[in-house]
Parts: sequence; C-alpha cells; structure tokens
Amino acid sequence: MVSMTKIFIDPGHGGTDSGAVGNGLLEKDLTLTIAKKIQSLLQGYEDVEVRMSRTTDKTLSLNQRTNAANNWNADFLLSVHINAGSGTGYEDYRYNTLAISSRTGKIHATIHNAIMDELAAYNIVDRGTKASDLHVLRESNMDAILTESLFIDTRKDAALLKNDEFLNAVAAGHVKGLERAFNLKKKAAVSTYKIKSGDTLWDIEERLNIDHGTLEKLNPNVNPSKLSIGQTIRIK
Ligand SMILES: [Zn+2]
Repeated sequence: MVSMTKIFIDPGHGGTDSGAVGNGLLEKDLTLTIAKKIQSLLQGYEDVEVRMSRTTDKTLSLNQRTNAANNWNADFLLSVHINAGSGTGYEDYRYNTLAISSRTGKIHATIHNAIMDELAAYNIVDRGTKASDLHVLRESNMDAILTESLFIDTRKDAALLKNDEFLNAVAAGHVKGLERAFNLKKKAAVSTYKIKSGDTLWDIEERLNIDHGTLEKLNPNVNPSKLSIGQTIRIK
C-alpha cells in the first residue's frame, strides 16, 4: 500500500477577521490566494492529500482550524499568514519548545530555505526561522509551521503582494519546501501527439527535437511502419 502524505493548509484569518490590513490589502485575501496556489501546485505530486481549513472567505476560530487538522490526522499543518508592524521580509515559525534540530525544526529549516531560494530574485530580507507559542503550532498534533510572507503595511512589500507572479513564487517556494521535507515525487507529465497524414516517428522526433528512437521506446505497442492518422502516441 502506498502511504499518502496528508497536508493540511490553513489560510490565516477569514470572514469577519481580516487579519492585518494595509496599502489596500487584506491579509485574509492574500492568505487564501497563496493557499489555493499551494493546493493547486501540490496536485502535481504523487500520493499527496491536501485539505484546507477554508476555501472561501469564512470566519473560523483557531480551535476549529487545529481540530480539523487533528481530526483528519494530517501529517503536516501549514498555516499561511502575512506580517504587519512596519518591518520587511519573510519569516516563519515553529512551536517555541522545539529546537531547530528536532524533526519539526528540520522540516521548518527545509521549507524556510526553499522559500528564500524561490524568492531570491526579489531581494527579500530573510528574517530567519523563529519559534513562538502560537495556537496553531501548539494545539496541532502534527508537525506544524506558520509562514509570514512580507509586511502588508510596508509599501515595498505590499507592492510585491499585489503582484500575482510574486504570489506564485511564494506558493512555489512553500511547495518546493514540502517536496524536499516530505520527499514528494512529481507526477510524470504524460504528453501525447496525434498522428497526421504523412507522419513518421523519425519526422516527429526531428520536429520535437527529441532523440531518435525515443518514440519507439515510449510506444512499445505502436508499429512504426503502420501509423494511422488520428492515432495517439506518447511523446514524453
Ligand atoms: Zn495573520
């Protein structure tokens, strides 16, 4: 039996709780946007199950969030937040009694580094891996990390938070961290091609710039001398 990795994503705040506010942005909206991007990227991996504490603009107590993760027996809880308080940069948290050398601490460092790597092009200040007595970290039964991606009330951070490409990079950093921490494997990308009149495997290989012989290996049941128009072959 294949064991699934169960990842619980908690977009911070929601509903009547906007979270931090600044520069025309609400924390609750950004956390949901980033969390949904993370969820969608995780669909590209084998044997991962994802659950979200919320997928809409909904009010949830902190207990509801950790209860949902605990009742589901998640392997990991990832709580997504945006910072405030006039600083700048990225930081993340594990529970305050856990050393960086603990299992949670190692996952924490892995995710932190993956996010900083992914954001390298944006010159983000690295505020480091921190530890704190936060509800979602304390009351969750599984390893848990809370991320704070930039400061909503700092103009240059907010400008990045308004940029969808930057939010994609934030999500991709989280996912690369999860990939490394939990040894997740990407789903093989299967691409296909429909045979057209006059095609030969050799021509298709030339056009797609792939090594000759590749298509025969990928399509062991296809007879190269009997291709039929409309037939679908694998090209990856
Ligand atoms: Zn928050």
